[in-house]
Formats: sequence, C-alpha cells, structure tokens
Amino acid sequence: MDSYINSVDFFKNTKPETLLKEYGSPLYVYNESIIRQSMRTVAKIITKYPFISNYSIKANSNLEILKMALEEGLYCDAMSEGEIRLLLLAGFPAEKIFFVPNNVSREELQFAIDNSILTSLDSLSQLELYGQLNPGGKCAIRINPGVGAGHHDKVVTAGKNTKFAIAANDIDTAISIADKYDLKIVGINQHVGSLFMDPEPFLASCRNILHFAERFERLDFIDFGGGYGVPYHKLSGEESFDFNALTEKLTKLLDEFVEKVGYTPLFKTEPGRFVACEGGILLGKVNAVKTNVDKKFVGTDIGMNILMRPVLYDSWHDLEVIRQNEVVDRSEGTETVTVVGNICESGDIIANERELPVIQKNDIIAVLDAGAYGYSMASNYNMRLRPAEVMIDRNGNATLIRKRDTFEDLFKQFL
Ligand SMILES: *Cc1c(COP(=O)(O)O)cnc(C)c1O
Repeated sequence: MDSYINSVDFFKNTKPETLLKEYGSPLYVYNESIIRQSMRTVAKIITKYPFISNYSIKANSNLEILKMALEEGLYCDAMSEGEIRLLLLAGFPAEKIFFVPNNVSREELQFAIDNSILTSLDSLSQLELYGQLNPGGKCAIRINPGVGAGHHDKVVTAGKNTKFAIAANDIDTAISIADKYDLKIVGINQHVGSLFMDPEPFLASCRNILHFAERFERLDFIDFGGGYGVPYHKLSGEESFDFNALTEKLTKLLDEFVEKVGYTPLFKTEPGRFVACEGGILLGKVNAVKTNVDKKFVGTDIGMNILMRPVLYDSWHDLEVIRQNEVVDRSEGTETVTVVGNICESGDIIANERELPVIQKNDIIAVLDAGAYGYSMASNYNMRLRPAEVMIDRNGNATLIRKRDTFEDLFKQFL
C-alpha cells in the first residue's frame, strides 16, 4: 500500500494544513467511520452464543469515542476510579461497566461497590479486602491462563512473569476466600497481553480458562480479555487480524465447553487497541532538518510526551509525509532519516533510520495507527501542552472533541 491516508480517504472534506492551523500542531485526528467499523467488528466476534465486547477504555478515553461505543452496543472495562467516573459521565449504566483493577486501594474498591460496578479481583489479597468491604456481594476473579502473548515483554500480562491475575493453582484458595465472605464469584476473566496477530496463543489461553471455568458450579460470564492486534506495518503489506478465523476456532471451543458443562454463560472479550487504533492519525510539523555527524535527523513537534509508544515499547508506526495537503509519493525519491521530537531526551525518537520520502522543513508528518495508547498516554513532560483531538464525522467534517492544553491548565495545581 502506497498511502493508507489516500486508500481510506482519511481526511474526507478536511485538509491537514487547515486542521493544524485551526487546532494547533501536533494534533490527534480521528475518523468516525473507521472507529465505528472496528467497534462493529469486535461486537460480533461470537454470534452463536450470548456475547458482549467490553471496550477497554485505557486505549483511548475521549468522551466522544466512549459515547460512540455506547451507541454501538459495547460495554466497557475500567482500570481506575477515574475511568469509572468518565464512563458514568459518558452515559454508561453501571451494569455495562466492568472494573478490572490491579493493586487498588480500599477506597477505590469502595467507590465501585457504592456505584454497583461489578469488580474483578486479581489477587488473593485484593479478594480478601473486597470480601471485607462487600460481604455477601458479587464479584469476578481474574485468572492467569498460563499463556501470555503480545508485541513486547512490557505488554505480556499472563504466563510466568507478570504481576497480573491469580495463578491457576490458587483458584481453590480464591474460592474458599470468597466462601468465607459469602461472596459469589459470578464471572472469571483473563487478559493475555496486547497486540497479537497470531490467534493461536490467545486460543490456547481461552482453552485454559474454559477448563478452569469447570471448577465453578455455574458462572454468569467468562471473559477472554483483549489484545487483538492491528497491522502497524500496513504500508509494507501487513494484513489485518483475521477475525473470521478466530470466530470459527473460538466458536468451536465454546461448543465443546457448553456441551460439557450443560449451561451457556455470557461470553465476553475486552478489546482496546483494535477499537481505536487505525481510526487515529497524529499530525505534526517538521521544524528542522539537519545532519549531525553522519546521521540525518528530521526534527518535529511530535515529542515522546505526545506519543510514548516508540520510546516505551520500541514500537513501529508507519509514517506518511504531507506537503501542500497531498501525501508525498515515494517515487519522487527516498532517503534514510531518523525522525525525532522536541523533548530533551535522546530516546525521543519516532522512527529510527527509516526510509522515507525526502522531507523538507514545514512538511507535515502523519503518524499512522495513533488512535490507541496515543493521547491516553500523553503527558506534559518538558512543560509541553498535550494536543487537541478532532473527529472527522461521517459527513466528512471535523469537530473539536478535546481542547489543547493551555499553559494555565499546566500551572493551575500550584498553590
Ligand atoms: C489493556 C487491557 C485490555 C485491552 O488490551 P488491548 O491490547 O488494547 O486490546 C483488556 N483487558 C485488560 C484487563 C487490560 O488491562
């Protein structure tokens, strides 16, 4: 693929230069049609049995995107009190919110209890605390299926080397803690990690958790977690995650399970990245081009505070270069450059030694697949402003959906 932007007509009636002029640079731009399409994809991973997709909002928690998720029939996962509060603000009823925290305080658990939000406990110690706070109540537990998956060690959240979940050999202890407090374990969940393109490890984990589910008399739901990948190398032909193949194989596992246990629970999944990722592009401007000793650098305003993934996970994002509102064609000549931001860190690199069209000062850099773990991880490091977010709606027009920070915002917490 030469250009993703052109192939999906990402900017519709808008123009990148106009957007940056109006809303400032850098800028997160989302495309409503693409995001809704991915929401519809995850809503129907399983059609044969009762099934719900929980959007994991840490991937992108813009209020307008949450409202879209609600309209598209998704439920949501929350990791913190702040995320629960935001979901309530977006209009989600308590029963559509699933709290899946890790190492939270008594106060945070109490907040969920007071708001009738079902909570999954992911350690024996948090289960014990929850029992004390909510005796006779309902809860879920997060089980480590023993198999992890993901694009980087830092995002593998199951298996032998993770802080998350209750190990399989502690399930009996968990059940006895629940009994002690008359807690009813109504569901079990897992999450193996983030960004897998091969469904096999995920299916292996599903097989394991279905096996663990047999230890419970009857569960209201079994939740398989998220992690479905997106093709970050789409310009060099990487294919999308094959949901059809997953549906077929997972449905078979569910058939076997339902037949064996003799009842049908609700099945759930928790996609985050897949929902928001491809519908988001980060735009920024080239402020300087220079050669330092032997290496050519393209200096942009897209610092690591704006998009943390490359420095945090060595992640790859495809880049396109825009000049006079058109994507610059690679046939006009390419060179190898290192694209960096404006933060005072040597690790502040968006793309290391990447072959790109020859870039000039004032060009626009478009970072693809920036809709997930982009803005939601942004910070004010170096006293920089987090950017605005705009949504290109189904009619092709842009609306501001989050204002850019102001310096007043940055300073207002000082006494
Ligand atoms: C982060 C997270 C998800 C979503 O992961 P993605 O890779 O974004 O799909 C789902 N469930 C839990 C518990 C998570 O922590």
